Amino acid sequence: MKKIEFIVPLLNEQENIRLFYQSLLTELEGLSCLQYQITYIDDGSTDLSWQQIEQLSDQDSRVRGVRFSRNFGKEFAIEAGLRQSDADAVIVIDSDLQHPVAMVPEFIQAWQHEGYKVVSGVKARRQKESKLKSVLANSYYFLFNRLSGLALDQMTDFKLLDRQVVQAWLALPERERFFRGLVAWLGYREKTLEFVPLERVSGETSWSLRQLFSYARSSLVSFSYAPLKLISILSLVMLVFAVLLGVQSLFYKIMGYAEEGFTTVILTQLIIGCSIMFALSSIGSYIARIYDELKARPHYVISEQTTPEQQDARVTI
Ligand code: UDP
Ligand code: MG
Repeated sequence: MKKIEFIVPLLNEQENIRLFYQSLLTELEGLSCLQYQITYIDDGSTDLSWQQIEQLSDQDSRVRGVRFSRNFGKEFAIEAGLRQSDADAVIVIDSDLQHPVAMVPEFIQAWQHEGYKVVSGVKARRQKESKLKSVLANSYYFLFNRLSGLALDQMTDFKLLDRQVVQAWLALPERERFFRGLVAWLGYREKTLEFVPLERVSGETSWSLRQLFSYARSSLVSFSYAPLKLISILSLVMLVFAVLLGVQSLFYKIMGYAEEGFTTVILTQLIIGCSIMFALSSIGSYIARIYDELKARPHYVISEQTTPEQQDARVTI
């Protein structure tokens, strides 16, 4: 019998844990030919979340809990969940019931019967978010898509991953991990299902604007060299201005308008400035290379082969 594991990262969700568990069980009732496991990853909650998880796991052997020593962040909670899993497919889902559990059967159907390796929940529209937050989010997705070449619009962490994808994800050697981005990077046959995010049942979002900014920055840095490329572009722009300014200064000098020594100072400044910019941009391109080598992502990921025995070491990574 195939096993499906729910990976539920949570931080201070004491009111939602039981509710989530009950609503999930209701949804799963109809799907009896599968085995389930619910793994709560407590990302350093300071309320009674862990006690709730312990109680649930005492009552129901399908419930497991993993507790972090402090708050390490949702990304790491998801990673911990994936590392300890041995299921045939995992479903990463929020515990605050904003990801509709009612869609779980549809996710499973797409995986079990339609052969998708990844099923992703995509937000139909952003709800009850301030204008500022939605403008920021949209600009972030625009930048991310343009710079990384991966389409992440309105993607969420609500995802089903086949065992193969989980293994490929875990095998990526880089340390800085951005769950959604890396799943998109891996590729695999993916089905996206739209959902309208529900209202938070209780509690508040635990992301501050500062955390969101740092999340956006680190995910952009993981997937593009835009800041490094910017130095090269700047150095070219500077060169154009330097040439214009240099020609103008020389012209004034020849015509005799220039103050004594002025042209020399200007030209020296421009030469030094441009040389530094060019040096930086060339260092930048080496750093980009080093960064690539350090991340050590495989050059390709193979999802299927006609003859499984002929496995190349990189196939399943
Ligand atoms: N979460 C977590 N660690 C954190 C912050 C959040 O595990 O440091 C969990 C949280 O309990 C919830 C999920 O991640 O289950 C999504 O967080 P939240 O609802 O605060 O964010 P939003 O829904 O606004 O994206
Ligand atoms: Mg939420």
